[in-house]
Amino acid sequence: MIESMRIIGAGGRVGSAVSARLAERGVLLDADDPELVLLCVPDRVIAEVAGELQLGPWIAHVSGATPLTALDPHVRRFGLHPLQSFSKARGPEQLDGAWGAVTAESDEALTVGFWLGEVLGLRPFELDDANRAAYHAGAAFASNYLVTLRAAAGSLLEVAGAPPEALDPLIRGVVDGGFELTGPIARGDWETVERHLDVIRAERPELERLYLALAEATASVAGHGTAKLQGVPRTESPLKVERTISGLRERLSGRRSGPVGLVPTMGALHEGHLSLLRAARAENETVVMSLFVNPTQFGDDGDLARYPRDNDRDLALAEQAGVDIVFAPDTTEMYPPGFQTWVDVTELGAILEGRFRPGHFRGVATVVLKLFEIVRPRRAYFGQKDAQQAEVIRQMIRDLSLEVELRVLPTVRDEDGLALSSRNALLSPQERERALALSKALATRDPDAALEQLRSSNGLVIDYVEAADFDPPVLAGAVRVGSTRLIDNVVLEGEPK
Ligand code: AMP
Repeated sequence: MIESMRIIGAGGRVGSAVSARLAERGVLLDADDPELVLLCVPDRVIAEVAGELQLGPWIAHVSGATPLTALDPHVRRFGLHPLQSFSKARGPEQLDGAWGAVTAESDEALTVGFWLGEVLGLRPFELDDANRAAYHAGAAFASNYLVTLRAAAGSLLEVAGAPPEALDPLIRGVVDGGFELTGPIARGDWETVERHLDVIRAERPELERLYLALAEATASVAGHGTAKLQGVPRTESPLKVERTISGLRERLSGRRSGPVGLVPTMGALHEGHLSLLRAARAENETVVMSLFVNPTQFGDDGDLARYPRDNDRDLALAEQAGVDIVFAPDTTEMYPPGFQTWVDVTELGAILEGRFRPGHFRGVATVVLKLFEIVRPRRAYFGQKDAQQAEVIRQMIRDLSLEVELRVLPTVRDEDGLALSSRNALLSPQERERALALSKALATRDPDAALEQLRSSNGLVIDYVEAADFDPPVLAGAVRVGSTRLIDNVVLEGEPK
């Protein structure tokens, strides 16, 4: 039917198996004027590659998840997804007997798709483009999640001192035996299931939820219903979320045996925050993270409204980082009606950032003092990224004789040098590119050279670039990129304390 083809991505996992098979079957590959172009490229570049190809020949992709519209503007098109997990170590024999989902919009395209499937040694079947997501989810369960199950099962064999690879013939036996259910759930032996859960809770607590979800699903497959398992007590997430001051104080009063570490944040967590949480986790018995977008440190309401927020993700990350308590009050909890007491670090709070954001450090110092008083931490963790903020808090601790140890951790940056910031999420890709000028300029560690560099960068408004005699001394800068304001600094000598 088709005698000449071109394969794009012939060096990849699918591409190499497919090319070898087509060569075996005498299809002319790499023809100048092919009748069919097959894209064996990563899903995310299919549309781009298709867009660059000349109209005319048939064009097809081998992706399970990508709709045919990714092949626009081509109309002589189809998809052929071999339902197989390919390994580069193996050859075209991987195609033998595997099924192949053909997605097509015309009878002619379907015929070409089936032809290609058969030439490859696949068992072609038709898949509606609209049903791809369900199809691909099923495929992910069967292949990707099996890998996850093998990893989970292997880690329990390790707990038992048994070789994890002993599981592999067992897995093959289940497949070769036609997926017959055996074992405790098939027998209705809930006592054994309880014993499994006991050891999992003790040795691999992160597997408890996975085990229970699978046990419930397996009970349904066995026709038992899930009633037995629903009665099994589940270990609650160790992370507690408190939204009131009294609730937090009560919870903390129960765990005052060791030091408490406090990490104040405004959420939209990134690696910079996580570095503080990890340090707090390593150094304290109890870790409290506050999650509060403090309105009094924002100059205008638009900036406050635009500030990124993602509570669910933040709680999941806090849990992973081993935080014990997240304190997430609402605004009236922190600023009840009639609130009128402020902390003003008068001189330090008025320079640099303070000049451009009047009242900012008053809001910061007030909320931090209030958090110190509510949490009473032994140690509080801040980032060098906000060097002036750390300096303002250091001054406040000294002036008010507060009993808290200030820990300042180094600035965490992206690979290209941009300091991580929750506000980076507000930058378009072009703005992010322009924003890089700030860290590059500061890296000169020379105020004049830095200013010069920034002046010659396009699309930035410079608020200031100045050396500041903080502890340690820094070269600090602030720029605006579009409607987003970014700050950064480099340490000139010594290390953050
Ligand atoms: P925020 O949520 O922006 O108020 O930040 C909470 C804490 O994380 C502050 O002490 C920041 O200085 C710190 N922080 C923010 N970005 C970074 C970063 N890139 N590296 C280290 N610490 C950071």
